[in-house]
Amino acid sequence: MDFLELEAIEGLRWSWNSWPTTKSDCESLVVPLSIMYTPLMHFSELPTIPYDPLICSRCGAVLNPYARVDYQSRIWSCPFCFHKNHFPRSYSGITETNLPAELFPTYSAVEYAPPQRKSGSATTTPTAAASWGNGFNQGLRSMSSTSSFSSLASTVGGGGGVIGELGPAFVFLVDASMVEDELRAVRSELLLVIEQLPENCLVALITFDSMVRVYDLGFSQCSKVVVFHGERDLSPDQIQQFLGLGYPKQLHHGKMSAIRKQSFLLPLAECEFNLTSAFEEIVPLVNVKPGHRPHRATGAAISTALGLLEGCSVTTGSRIMVFTSGPATRGPGIIVDSDLGHSIRTHRDIITGRVSYYDRSCGFYKKLAKRLLSSEQNRKPQPGSAFFIQFITRYRYGNGGMRKRVTTVARRWVVGKSPEVSSGFDQETAASVMARLAINRAEECYARDVIRWLDDGLIRFASRSCTTYEDHSFLTSSTIPLMKPDFSG
Ligand SMILES: [Zn+2]
Repeated sequence: MDFLELEAIEGLRWSWNSWPTTKSDCESLVVPLSIMYTPLMHFSELPTIPYDPLICSRCGAVLNPYARVDYQSRIWSCPFCFHKNHFPRSYSGITETNLPAELFPTYSAVEYAPPQRKSGSATTTPTAAASWGNGFNQGLRSMSSTSSFSSLASTVGGGGGVIGELGPAFVFLVDASMVEDELRAVRSELLLVIEQLPENCLVALITFDSMVRVYDLGFSQCSKVVVFHGERDLSPDQIQQFLGLGYPKQLHHGKMSAIRKQSFLLPLAECEFNLTSAFEEIVPLVNVKPGHRPHRATGAAISTALGLLEGCSVTTGSRIMVFTSGPATRGPGIIVDSDLGHSIRTHRDIITGRVSYYDRSCGFYKKLAKRLLSSEQNRKPQPGSAFFIQFITRYRYGNGGMRKRVTTVARRWVVGKSPEVSSGFDQETAASVMARLAINRAEECYARDVIRWLDDGLIRFASRSCTTYEDHSFLTSSTIPLMKPDFSG
């Protein structure tokens, strides 16, 4: 396998190019499964696509050459979550022989450079269709009412605005215990982010200090919030109950009955004004007890955000974005007491186990992570089957416009002891990854411990690769000189 050739196409280097299917086999590799990515690598051929990427409505992945396309019914299956997505009307000319650049099998990386949109325009859609072929429809993408989008739109769309397909959901979690300078900076960044978001994105705002406040973005008469106590670790059901997010489970004659409109999570187009006014309303904290850290119920706030997303049954992909200026000092997930007499833990304290709250808070965050994953499908990888990884890099181009580079690559799952594992081993990447891990470790541990760790790892690696792959003599310390332990010192 020529790793340099692959790098020239993908911009990636993999320590292992074939991945074992089981965790124990992965651990026995010693060198971790890792990928080094050069976000803006120069390619001799990089197609620039003049419209917005097509996004999987379930997981947020971008359409790519590994998607299965049904040309008759104009549906593409996402290779990451297997969700079937409809092509918008602007893709009506798609056939096997007339493919848009993002589906060309030879392009691992493509770059999207949509025309710059004006903020505040009510008619812009995220993938305002520019045509990619000859003679294709140029009309604006309109909503496809056949899919689950329509029922979701009626569930989460509060004000009955004309929103087509809903975009992903963003919950902004803002620490309200920041000092004025920080708050001003965050506020202007948030306004910038809002300006860049497509208007069909769902947005929510939650602020937290000793309390957690969920903003009702659909209520315009005055500012309306639901307040949660920061000390309490509420269950998802309780959070949804307090937010009034009760949806009937049964369908009556195919229709949802008596849907209660919520307005905490709304399409941006319906609440942009209320959202930006709410940002303005967050005031810097002035009353912090001397000798104390500000109260931050960060854990309770994240849990509330998750409860909100669960309660709104968001299926379009979602992200909780936390903007904070210090450790959680209150409630579930606490890191340190607010009393400055208790110093914040160091990594050494964690290693030596001298940290109060550590286990309980780890448990809390693990539980949150499980909730985040619970809706994901858990498919066991089969040896021989492919897996996919997608990198999405968003950056500002020289002309001021935003660009999105999307790199999608595939590799194979293999049986732990198979020869593909060793033939896919890239020692340069491995050496580089190990060096970075060592540097990272050096920030927390003594140099001699780091050197010992590195040597132990390399010895383990050398002995395992020699015994495991004894019939493949190329994986010995003489042919992988970069991965040879140093016995001299
Ligand atoms: Zn997907």
